[in-house]
Amino acid sequence: MNMSMKKNDPLRLDVSFLVKGAPGTFKEFEFNFPQLTLPGDLLLVDVQGLITVSATEDGVVVNGKIRALTELSCSRCLDPFWHLLNIDFTEVFSSHPVDKAENDLGVQPLPADGSIDLTPIIRDYAALDIPIRLVCKDGCKGLCPTCGVNLNLEDCGHKQEFIDPRLAGLKALLEKDEESQS
Ligand SMILES: [Zn+2]
Ligand SMILES: [Zn+2]
Repeated sequence: MNMSMKKNDPLRLDVSFLVKGAPGTFKEFEFNFPQLTLPGDLLLVDVQGLITVSATEDGVVVNGKIRALTELSCSRCLDPFWHLLNIDFTEVFSSHPVDKAENDLGVQPLPADGSIDLTPIIRDYAALDIPIRLVCKDGCKGLCPTCGVNLNLEDCGHKQEFIDPRLAGLKALLEKDEESQS
């Protein structure tokens, strides 16, 4: 039984035994990691999932269903919070040379040693499941643009109009510009 998930390379699957198998033969790999760090410093915590690798005529199909938590920061109040990632993917690997047309369809060459590193795949699909603008909760009040306190935690008494903290700097610049024109 050699379905090694090496410690230093936890997302690498040895599927060589399947490549020679009859089409339809499959093998399931259960994933369960307290944490994983993916390229780009993407930290996944409480990673659980199932990877199913099925033999095809000339390679394998890899189906993945992974759930993991990742810590993001709120786009309004900047506080960190946990976001549940749903990483679902299907990737096709061919043991024949992959031409451009196939590649455009998402077919990837199967490495000669029959070992597939899922790291870049999981990284890409995880990144897809991270929305660009996320708030820690519905109705997050954000930071006070005047004094910067987290309005979820305290009321500083300043009059509030919501401003994205990333735009606050721009607003200050525009106001400065207005001042210099007047
Ligand atoms: Zn927030
Ligand atoms: Zn304030």
